[in-house]
Amino acid sequence: MQLSNDEIRRYSRHLILPEVGLAGQKKICSTSVLCIGAGGLGSPIALYLAAAGIGKLGIVDFDTVDYSNLQRQILHTDADVGRSKAQSAKETIAGINPNVEVVLHDVRISSENALDLIRPYDIVVDGTDNFPTRYLTNDACVLLNKPNVYGSIFRFEGQASVFAPHLGGPCYRCLYPEPPPPGMVPSCAEGGVLGVLPGIVGCIQTTEILKLALGKGSLLVGRLLLFNALDMKFRELKLRRDPECPVCGENPTIKELIDYEMFCGITPEQEEPAMNPDEVTVHEMKRALDDPKLGIKVIDVREPDEYEIAHVEGVPLLPLSQLEQRFTELDPNQQYYIHCKMGGRSMRALQFLRQQGFKYLKNVKGGIDAWSDEIDQGVPKY
Ligand SMILES: [Zn+2]
Repeated sequence: MQLSNDEIRRYSRHLILPEVGLAGQKKICSTSVLCIGAGGLGSPIALYLAAAGIGKLGIVDFDTVDYSNLQRQILHTDADVGRSKAQSAKETIAGINPNVEVVLHDVRISSENALDLIRPYDIVVDGTDNFPTRYLTNDACVLLNKPNVYGSIFRFEGQASVFAPHLGGPCYRCLYPEPPPPGMVPSCAEGGVLGVLPGIVGCIQTTEILKLALGKGSLLVGRLLLFNALDMKFRELKLRRDPECPVCGENPTIKELIDYEMFCGITPEQEEPAMNPDEVTVHEMKRALDDPKLGIKVIDVREPDEYEIAHVEGVPLLPLSQLEQRFTELDPNQQYYIHCKMGGRSMRALQFLRQQGFKYLKNVKGGIDAWSDEIDQGVPKY
């Protein structure tokens, strides 16, 4: 391949680096990368890979842009809200570097399509935010001998590594053989994330991708980089390949892709989800609030900061974090409807109170999010 005069000018700061040079830039320009997710991590990854002149960039994302994405997902603009993330990403990238071939995969990556999606690419970068997709990406990369550039973020902390058993390192399963029980690890949507954090972790992943393309430097293979933004500290853990690993070990038991939702303990959503007997809808919560004769009390178990952002008039706050100390303020024979933001923490509150002998408890399905969708749009969503 030859670089045009325009490309030589565009990549001049790479070309004068002895570690890159013309040969290295040609390697970057002929490397293909599949980016799984065009969200917080995918944004800086796609932007910097495009600017660096990556040859082909595949983007897997089936989601649409939401207002709550804009705080960190810098691929997308205010005008993109409601549009396809993959499409928005493609346009932003074309504006930065029209030489990059962008391939959109506007689908949910699954056990059925993952191998076909990944096979044509040299490198895979994990910008996902959930465990089933992370294990799926890992296993597919191991089976296809593709380097899997991993990053994850939560609140103020991030981690990054390069999983590549074919280069002698471990895989994600060597590090985390079992997924956490469902609901135990909150997502960024539940726990929050500092907007710049995916920028930092995504840039670390991008650096590793460029080093892989160049064949230069020492990669994060066999090393887990941990970053804490509040302390502004980086730490590093040595990772070893587990000879017993079910996918990259000496006697692998996983030789094809499995059902990752099931592996992660997530029960598939049904077409018409059956109502959990422990749950009520926000409409029932409204009835309880409107009609005191029903004798039902509603409590909110979110944290005070969240209550300040949005709350339902007349519903008292008893944060889940204080419930162990303060549950004696409640009456074990009283009927309570418990709500949080989306229904996860209120279910944990319900289970805790039930262990303390409370008899008449219901979880409000969908929490205050559902309340602002279905009952009162004047209650802001956050
Ligand atoms: Zn492994």
